Amino acid sequence: MNSFFLPHEAIQINTIIFPQDRSHQIMRVLRLQAGEHVYVLDNRGNRYLTELITVDPLATRGRIIQQELSSNEPVSNLHLFVAITQRDKLEWIFQKCTEIGVNQFTPVVTRRSLSQETVANARKQERWTKIVMEAAEQSQRDCIPEIHPTIPLANCLSYAGDYKLVAYENEKIVSIPDALPEASPANVAILVGPEGGFSVEEIVLLDAQGWRAVSLGRRVLRMETAAIVACTLILHHLGEMGI
Ligand code: SAH
Repeated sequence: MNSFFLPHEAIQINTIIFPQDRSHQIMRVLRLQAGEHVYVLDNRGNRYLTELITVDPLATRGRIIQQELSSNEPVSNLHLFVAITQRDKLEWIFQKCTEIGVNQFTPVVTRRSLSQETVANARKQERWTKIVMEAAEQSQRDCIPEIHPTIPLANCLSYAGDYKLVAYENEKIVSIPDALPEASPANVAILVGPEGGFSVEEIVLLDAQGWRAVSLGRRVLRMETAAIVACTLILHHLGEMGI
């Protein structure tokens, strides 16, 4: 069943008034018809089972059948810090890690990241937010992950979370279960480096600030694979990948 995150002003007492862009998507792209059911979410944890009453490319309307308490969101808060890379690879990481259950993303400029720019680019930020919103709708999540502005590595050192992990391909001792002693919900940050990896100096600096180097196994993964594997291993260990 299709899901739509809508601004809270679109959700009236028992009626949903779909904005024009969504009305067009419903009619022209998804080809949904009156009488069909969809989910409407307000990105505040509320999910509304809705019947489409009038399907119009400008102003589709729905009737709220019932409000559902849904728990598709992880209890833990996983924040992925990922080195800036080519646009399509980074967007692929945002999409896949949204499906898996990441709640927050921060692109990071590291010594060997493909891009060194931290200049805020509103258009890029807007595109990224659209990508995670669509991925959250497709994966039936109740909230849209947040994408924070790009920062230099030095600015993520002081991140305050229960656990701060850095995926380091030269780590040969500590694995993710070793670094997450309690298999219970927590605020976890995971940092994944660029195609060129982290420098030893960066790992030493991170360690000094409480970021623990972890191995994702004996094989060296591409950064986009590492992002998926790291997030999955963490969420699975925290019990967030079950039914
Ligand atoms: N420059 C390295 C590979 C870097 S892979 C080389 O070619 O040997 C890109 C990123 O993925 C790394 O910075 C690290 O964050 C992560 N990564 C890849 N394989 C990993 C592994 N086995 N354990 C931990 N992190 C890994």
